[in-house]
Amino acid sequence: MGVGVRLGGRSGRVKVSGERTTNAFSALLSLRMPANLQNPADAVAATQAIYADLAQRPIERGCTRLTECCQFRLTGRTPFLTKGEALTAAKGLRATGRTKLPERTDGACPLLGPEGRCMIYDARPFGCRTHFCAAAGGPYARREVVDLIRRLEDIDQKFGGEGALPIGSAVARVLKEGRR
Ligand code: SF4
Repeated sequence: MGVGVRLGGRSGRVKVSGERTTNAFSALLSLRMPANLQNPADAVAATQAIYADLAQRPIERGCTRLTECCQFRLTGRTPFLTKGEALTAAKGLRATGRTKLPERTDGACPLLGPEGRCMIYDARPFGCRTHFCAAAGGPYARREVVDLIRRLEDIDQKFGGEGALPIGSAVARVLKEGRR
């Protein structure tokens, strides 16, 4: 959870008005988007490339997978996912053999497995990769990753997303759409 797209969220979406502005923005967007971004699989690949770029950032943190930050009811914070992140998380969940989001009643992340470990760790969202509890060094500052957030938002726009959504509804929506 963290900086990620929670801060980018709906408020982070770029709003344009007027045909000239829209065209100019579209031209700019096309420069920033991978040319081969045509289908959901491409969106997943582009999202994973952003995660890989994030991993290269020289920002040291020491997560020991306590999963305290996965207890949303306790932290009062929930990661928000753009469309590419939701597609990636849903793919990760399908890889576990599940076709539905597990229900939870304890206020924890629905992707936190019964053994207390993230079921989609390699496919976890951007927010989960940028949020660290105080003991682990604290969350990334938005300025440290804002370029990556913009790329996630670009993918969201390209795939008709509505901006970042809470993790449960974002993943459930993609699973319902049956996208892979
Ligand atoms: S997706 Fe994984 S790491 Fe992120 S909050 Fe859920 S269980 Fe925790």
